[in-house]
Formats: sequence, structure tokens, C-alpha cells
Amino acid sequence: MSCQALDELKQQIPLLDYLQAHDWQPARQLSRGRWMGLCPLHSDHKPSFLVDPGKSLFYCYGCGRGGDVIRFAELYHQVKFPQALALLHQWRGLAPLLHEAASFYRMQLHRHGEAIAYLHQRGVRSPELIEQMRIGYAPGGGCLRRWLTQLGYPLPALLQAGLVTAVGYDAYTRRIVFPLEGNLYGRSLSALAPPHRFLPGAKGGLYAWEQVRRYPEVILVEGLFDYAVLWQAGFYNVTCAMGNHLNAHQYRQLCDSPRTVYLAFDGDTNGSGQQAAQWLARRLRERGVNARRISLPDGHDPNSFFVQDGDARQFQSLLEAALP
Ligand SMILES: [Zn+2]
Repeated sequence: MSCQALDELKQQIPLLDYLQAHDWQPARQLSRGRWMGLCPLHSDHKPSFLVDPGKSLFYCYGCGRGGDVIRFAELYHQVKFPQALALLHQWRGLAPLLHEAASFYRMQLHRHGEAIAYLHQRGVRSPELIEQMRIGYAPGGGCLRRWLTQLGYPLPALLQAGLVTAVGYDAYTRRIVFPLEGNLYGRSLSALAPPHRFLPGAKGGLYAWEQVRRYPEVILVEGLFDYAVLWQAGFYNVTCAMGNHLNAHQYRQLCDSPRTVYLAFDGDTNGSGQQAAQWLARRLRERGVNARRISLPDGHDPNSFFVQDGDARQFQSLLEAALP
């Protein structure tokens, strides 16, 4: 790749945009438009990460690392230079498109009674939570395709992102949609369709990790509806792996600092959630992370526990009773 192409890429991806898309939040402003915040690259407790949006450069006074957006992608995703470039290229193409799709789905949510009814049935009621998680609804048909093509996105780009099927229908039909880092999770309302759907590509890191990583104790759940009810009950130190198998990035995130991780996996009758929790707890302990397994009543996951009248105090007792 030529120097000119590198400069172009850097111009197209302002460092601050990229950081914020990865949940980085500026804590305070300095002179000349610069910002300080917690460092996403090391376990940081007071803001030591300096960002200069004008120059699109960062420097961390804690871990001593700094550079441009490419350097940041290398360090953040723990990849080499060529892979960092590939990730940035992919992100540049996909991020605005996913952002528009998620905004469209959010507009649809309150227009569709069945979507709100489904959220209520899963115990999701707080408007603040719906806002915070940017929950939307995909009615299906061709409405997302029409919206995005009107905005000027070419159909092949929608196909490539997996938002539209080969025959031109919206890929997400009658699904509650949660935006993730570089992906969208869709939960089907219909019992006839597969319940879970992601776009092709990585499911991303742990859900809302930047908001959670500063807690010394973290609750890890399998599903976003588990996340939602816990957050709503005031457990803001919750995060979600979107499944009970962590990808390498999620695993590194959990291990990036000494902490206690409470695993609140499903108590499925076939035991798969509990087996996964046992296995993960062992791996975490090998890395010096204190892992504890929460036992939910048989056949329950955190979502059904709260939906069936479980409350914050009862869940707190489960946390206290959690076994290594
Ligand atoms: Zn740092």
C-alpha cells in the first residue's frame, strides 16, 4: 500500500470516530481541542489516554503507547500492521452502513406493537434501557433496502454486508435488533425462524465492555436479553458474550486486568450452559482471573429468572452464593 493510500485511509477514519465507535468516552477536555480519557489499551483507573482529534493521534501516559489510527487498531485488536489495515478498510465500508441500518430499526420499534409486546414479554420495559442499548425492530420485507438505497447506498453494498438477501428482501425479518461492534444481533419474534441471527463476520468484543471494564467485579451472561434485565435491575457491571463460547478478543478483554468474573450462564436442562461455565472458569483462573459460577434455578437463564418475578435482592443472593 502506498503512502498516499495510507494517508487517505487515515483521513477517512478520524481517530476520535474510531475510538468512540469502540465505546471510548472522553473524560475531560484539554486545550487545543484535545481530550483525556481512560486508556482502552491497558487497565486504567484514572484518565491517562490523550487524544488529539486535530492531528488524529493518541498517547497514553500510563502504558506509554501512542500513534495514529492504524497503530491504535494494531494494539487494540492485537494484530499486525496488514491485518490492522484490513480491519480498518472493512470498518470504513461497514460502519456507516450499520449505523444507518440501526437508526432505521430504532425508528421502527415504536411503530410496531408486536415488537414492544415482545420486549415486555422478555421483561424489557425501561425506556432508558431501550435508548441505552439502541434497541430496534426489523419489520422485514423490503423497507430497510428501500430506505438505504434512497440514502444512496448501492444494493451490492447491502448484499455484501448481509443486510439484504440475494433475492432482495431484508435479511432481518420480524426481529428485535441490537447493534453490536461491527455487527447486528437479531432475535426473531417468530418461533418458526431461527431465534438468533448475526450478519456474516465477527460478533465483536464483549458487549459494552468500555462501560464495564472499570468494575472490579463483572457479571458475564450469554444473551442480550439476560444483559437487559440485569442492567434494568441495577447491575450495571454486566456484559454479554453473545453465546457461551468466547472468541479470542472477548477472552483477552476479560483477562486484561485482575478482576472477579461472575458467570451467569443458562441453567439449561441439558447442562450445556453450566459445562461451558465450568470450562471458562477454569481457563480464567489459569490467567489469574477470579471466576465464580452463579447457579440459577433449573431451566432458568437470568432473563427468565427476572421475568418470573425474580428481583435484584434475590439475584444478589445468588451472586453471594456463587461457587468457584
Ligand atoms: Zn495505556
